[in-house]
Amino acid sequence: MLINGALVHGGTTAAVINPASGQEFERVPNASAADVDSAVAAAKAAFGGWAALPFAKRAACFISFAALLERDKGRLAAALSQEQGKPLKPFAVGEVKMAIGKAKACADSANELVPEEYERNTKGRCTCLWAPRGVVAAICPWNFPLAIAVNKMLCPLVGGNTVVLKPSPMTPLSTLLLSDLAMEAFPPGVVNILAGGSDVGAVLVEHPDVATVTFTGSSATGKRIMASASPSLKKAPRRSCGSANASASRHDPGTKRACVPQAMFNTGQVCVALKRLYVHASQYEEMVAALGAEAREKVQQLGDGLTPGTVYGPLNNAMQRDRVEELVEDARADGARVVAGGERVRPPSAPQGFFYAPTILADLPDTARIVREEQFGPALPVLSYETVDEAVERANDSEYGLGASVWGANRAVNTQRPTPTQAGSIWINNHLGSGLDIDAPFGGVKESGIGKENGGKLAFKAFCDEKYLYAPFPL
Ligand code: NAD
Repeated sequence: MLINGALVHGGTTAAVINPASGQEFERVPNASAADVDSAVAAAKAAFGGWAALPFAKRAACFISFAALLERDKGRLAAALSQEQGKPLKPFAVGEVKMAIGKAKACADSANELVPEEYERNTKGRCTCLWAPRGVVAAICPWNFPLAIAVNKMLCPLVGGNTVVLKPSPMTPLSTLLLSDLAMEAFPPGVVNILAGGSDVGAVLVEHPDVATVTFTGSSATGKRIMASASPSLKKAPRRSCGSANASASRHDPGTKRACVPQAMFNTGQVCVALKRLYVHASQYEEMVAALGAEAREKVQQLGDGLTPGTVYGPLNNAMQRDRVEELVEDARADGARVVAGGERVRPPSAPQGFFYAPTILADLPDTARIVREEQFGPALPVLSYETVDEAVERANDSEYGLGASVWGANRAVNTQRPTPTQAGSIWINNHLGSGLDIDAPFGGVKESGIGKENGGKLAFKAFCDEKYLYAPFPL
């Protein structure tokens, strides 16, 4: 772990399991409450100096961090593939590249938070100044551990905050490997990295010297974090949470080709992946058959992430595999038709791993748990609709609102349809294919989140307080 510019071993250790083998392959430290105190104290002490640095000096640290990520790309990608399960190429390597892109973007002088004139009248002018808040606690999930960790580490730093970062206990390794790099690139205390589970996370977010919490994970944990941060009235924790993203399709041949890859990418463990598909009744059977055939083909592409040719890895952990299985079995018991998959798989390269076959479910009601809850795995329920308004209404009937997509051959109709859709990101004739760029704002509505991540300056302003300076005019 990294505390105050030094590597720290911690008193106890925890196992890291490779989900392709089901076996422990590494041990990592576990932070104690005292480690949390030390990390927060270090971040607090470093805050004044870091915030006072001119932007160009902070930018030089981001550039140096990007170069170190580039140097260690191979080592980081291999650790990521082994602990998360995703195929080394192109996905684990691609995730490290995303992190490098983020570090470079943070250094861009266009992203400096300069004072902004807010109002000017005959009596004077009002200028908005962006003031960093202090220590930011950053809590990460296990699906894109490295890209999310680097995003959450760097965005608060741009405006002058300091950070204590905690990865998921399922995927701590690639984040802990960032400790050496952060130690070299940043002054002591500016970045601190701890490992541990929900207990360590809870101590961190409740710490009185933490000014803001940034969190990505499930909605249930997001609510717990909101509750534990509220006694000290921490600035609105920025959280990105769970989802049950919907797509509605009519007369678009692209849907058949695109839906399976877009639902199964990262083995379905993508917050914004396609998680429910509504298809017009006139095309339902044809679509279900095409999706089923596509899903069956994908079974051959499952395997160990380090084995060349693997396109889909295992679920990240046994609990998640069991959850997907439970939701599919629940739907089956309710009369759903299992068109493809619906069972565990033992790929030749990883027979003991946490694999579940790409699954297509048909003829299930909107009340099925796999329609209402977040499956976070490779199982796609396909539902039939009669009118587009009905499809939009049913898609909106969810506590979630992260992503949605509308598919159809009629461009004019498509561009109207997204308006009533309750989601933070809405794609037309596409899902996930664009809009997750580091420059595009991203975040959910309803229980899928508060605030946006990415989006250039938006992401950096979110960690700063606005201060308004009133001055007579002319000065
Ligand atoms: P999770 O909620 O179980 O855990 C996330 C993190 O929170 C972990 O680091 C965990 O140790 C920590 N944590 C748990 N309880 C805590 C507490 N009381 N106080 C402080 N920290 C605590 O989520 P997960 O299973 O790791 O990730 C999967 C979830 O993440 C899915 O629901 C997915 O949709 C969501 N997700 C959302 C986005 C998004 O941008 N909306 C992106 C990625 C993942």
